[in-house]
Parts: sequence; structure tokens; C-alpha cells
Amino acid sequence: MKHTVYIGAGSNTGDRLGNIRKALNLLDNPGDGKITALSSLYETLPFGYKEQENFYNLVFLYETSLEPEALLHLIKKIEKETGRKERERWHEREIDLDILLYDSLVYKSPLLTIPHPGLINRDFVILPLLELNNNIAHPESGIKLNSIVIPEPDRCVIRKINQEFFKNEQ
Ligand code: ADP
Ligand code: MG
Repeated sequence: MKHTVYIGAGSNTGDRLGNIRKALNLLDNPGDGKITALSSLYETLPFGYKEQENFYNLVFLYETSLEPEALLHLIKKIEKETGRKERERWHEREIDLDILLYDSLVYKSPLLTIPHPGLINRDFVILPLLELNNNIAHPESGIKLNSIVIPEPDRCVIRKINQEFFKNEQ
């Protein structure tokens, strides 16, 4: 059965755009799943530990038959193949892939929480998600994402970048 998954991608070190493109190309593979929609690319301030480069972030829609933990395994593998090095939490990363939403599933295990716990307080996740689907409600709380207002001091998005770059590749 096909599942509808929203995945967030971010990078703030090395070739940020190249890293995101590489990870997306690795994910868009007939054996695993298909990327069917892509948000704009956003430049964002680092969340948490501030002494690091700005991020590039985007969200994409992924159609896959993989079950949640198998999908987590795949994205961890692709993060490694994309060159992610192990560092302390919140520090810079070559690539970060997070499962934001998986159908309307609510799932908690020691390895995986769906919806992603940061979903409702991160503008750099909510804005690109709403670009792809303005009607999304948070499966656990029922809150419509388009009704969430992130307080000014917590906002990370600096600008939206036109990313014809990816579309031309497909
Ligand atoms: P960050 O929380 O900053 O994204 P990591 O990418 O290093 O940090 O992820 C830490 C761990 O978070 C992963 O090893 C994974 O097991 C766990 N995790 C829990 N829920 C999710 C999710 N929805 N998507 C991706 N990883 C998740
Ligand atoms: Mg992550």
C-alpha cells in the first residue's frame, strides 16, 4: 500500500544545495519511493545552537510503500551516503532528513516519533508544508497548521529561494 509522507530536508554545512539535491536523488528511487512534490527552498537561521551557518530547508511529498521504521532506516542510510558526519545534537549537519507526517499516523517508539515533535513550533517546517497542502491538520491535536502563529522571536525563516534548480533536473 502506498503511504503519503512529508519529509523535511535541511543542510547547513558544505555544499548545502548539493547535499539536499543528492539526498533527494537517492530517495527518489523506484525500489523505495517517489518524490511527487517539492516546496520552495528556504534560507533559515539555525534552530537551537546559534553559532553556526544558516540552513537551507525544504519539504517534499514522498509516496512510498515502506513502513515507518523501514523508512527511518532508509533516511538514516541516505544521510550517511550524503556525507553526514556524527556531531553533537543541534550542531551543524551536511544533511538532516526528518519524517514530519506519515498519512495521519500517530506513532511513538524509542527510535521514531510521528508526527515529528518539532512540527508545530518550527516556521521552517510549517511554511513549506503549507505550500504543498494548505489543509493539513496535526493528526494528534487536530490543529490546522495554517492556524499556527509562531511568535516573532522564534521565527527562523529569512527568505524563500526560487528553486527551479530542482524542477529542471526532473
Ligand atoms: P534532529 O532531532 O536534530 O533531527 P537527528 O537527525 O540526529 O537529530 O535525529 C536524532 C534521532 O531522532 C534519529 O536517530 C531518530 O531515531 C530520531 N527520530 C525520532 N522521530 C523522528 C522522525 N519523525 N524523523 C526522523 N528522525 C526521528
Ligand atoms: Mg533528524
